[in-house]
Amino acid sequence: VVSRRGRHAAAGPLLPGATIGVLGSGQLGRMLALAARRMGYRVHVFSPERGSPAGEVADHEHAAPYEHLAAVDHFAAKVDAVTFEFENVPAATAETVAARVPVRPAPAVLHVCQQRLREKGFLAERGFPVTPFRAARSEEELAAALAALGTPAVAKTAGWGYDGKGQVRIEGPGEAAEAWRRLATDEAIVEAFVDFEREVSVVVARGADGTVADFPLFANDHARHVLDVTVAPAPVPPEVAREASEIARGVARALDLVGVLCVEMFLATDGRLLVNELAPRPHNSGHLTIEAAATSQFEQQLRAVCGLPLGSPALVAPAAAMANLLGDLWDGGEPDWPAALAVPGVALHLYGKRQARPGRKMGHLTAVAATADDARAAVLAARAALRRTPAVG
Ligand code: AMP
Repeated sequence: VVSRRGRHAAAGPLLPGATIGVLGSGQLGRMLALAARRMGYRVHVFSPERGSPAGEVADHEHAAPYEHLAAVDHFAAKVDAVTFEFENVPAATAETVAARVPVRPAPAVLHVCQQRLREKGFLAERGFPVTPFRAARSEEELAAALAALGTPAVAKTAGWGYDGKGQVRIEGPGEAAEAWRRLATDEAIVEAFVDFEREVSVVVARGADGTVADFPLFANDHARHVLDVTVAPAPVPPEVAREASEIARGVARALDLVGVLCVEMFLATDGRLLVNELAPRPHNSGHLTIEAAATSQFEQQLRAVCGLPLGSPALVAPAAAMANLLGDLWDGGEPDWPAALAVPGVALHLYGKRQARPGRKMGHLTAVAATADDARAAVLAARAALRRTPAVG
C-alpha cells in the first residue's frame, strides 16, 4: 500500500501532503510554514514557546523545552522530515529527531555552525578566506591572542552568539582584562579587526542530489550590530559577486549541506572577501527573495528538505531592498501602517509578535524597483512614515 504521506515512499521526495517539522518557532519558521502550506504541506513546529510567530501559522505547535527529549521524540514521530530555523538546538535534540526522520541540514552541519571556533576552523582548514583568529580560554590567552593578531581586534563568545551579542571590540593590548571580564565566558574567539568597505551575504541552497543554487549577492547595512537594510543585487564589481558566489557554493559543498545556508562576508577595503559567519538556514538578508526572486529562500529550504528540485534563484525585478522593523518603532504607539503602505510598491511583513521590545525584530518592508537605490529609498520612506512622534509630557 502506498501512503499519501511521503514517509512510506522510500528514497523518493516528500510530496505535498507530507508533514514538515521545524525546530524553532520565530519569524524564519513562520515564513517557511507559509511557503510550505501554500504548496500543500503540513507543518509542525517545536519550541519552548506557545503562541509563537511560526506556531500561529503552523498546523500544530509543540511547546516544550528543547531538552525535553520525550517531547522531542513525540514531535519527530508526527512528521516526515525536520529542519530548523534556530541553529542553537542542543545536539541531543537533533540526534533524537534524527533517530526517527531525516534532519536537513544534518546535525553535523549544526555542530560546525553552532560554535564560532569550530566554524572558523572548518573554513580555514578548507582554504576559505577568513580573518586571522585565535582561541582564548583565559585572560592570559586573550592577551596572547592580541599580541599575535595586533589591535584593534574583536573578541566574541565562542558559543551562542548572534547579532553582535557577546562581542567586544578591543582597541589596545591593555584592554585584555576588561574585555575578558565583559565577555563573561570560558571560551572566546579573537579576530583581527577587518577594515571593511561593506558587508555582503550569499544565501545558497543545496538539494539532496547535490544541485546548488545561490541568490544574487546581498549588500547589508547594520545598525547597532543588527541587520538594518539589505539591497540586491549588491553594488559591487561583477568579479566580486562571482567570487562571493563561488565561496558560498564551495562552503555548501564542503558542509555536504542539504538545505539553505547564509554565508556572511566582509568586502575588505583591500578588495578581499572574508567569511565572517555561517547560518545553516534562511537568513534575514534573504527576506527580499519573497517578492524579488522566482523562488523565495523559504520555498528553496522546503524544496531542499523535501528532496525536490531547487527553484530558480533569479531576481524577477532589476533590484530590491528590505528594511527591518524593530520594536523601537512602537515607542510612540502603534506604527502608522496606512502611511507606509501608501508608498508605491512596498510590501509589509509582520511576524505576529505580541510584544514590541527595543531591538526585537517585529517585521520588515520590501520593495522592488528599477535600481537598488530606488528600492532602498522606497523602504526607507515607508519606514520613516511608520514612526509616530512620541507624545511629550
Ligand atoms: P557577528 O556577531 O559575528 O555577526 O558580528 C556582528 C557585526 O560585528 C558584524 O556584522 C560586523 O559589523 C562586526 N564585526 C564582527 N566581526 C568583525 C571583525 N572581525 N572585524 C570588523 N567588524 C566585525
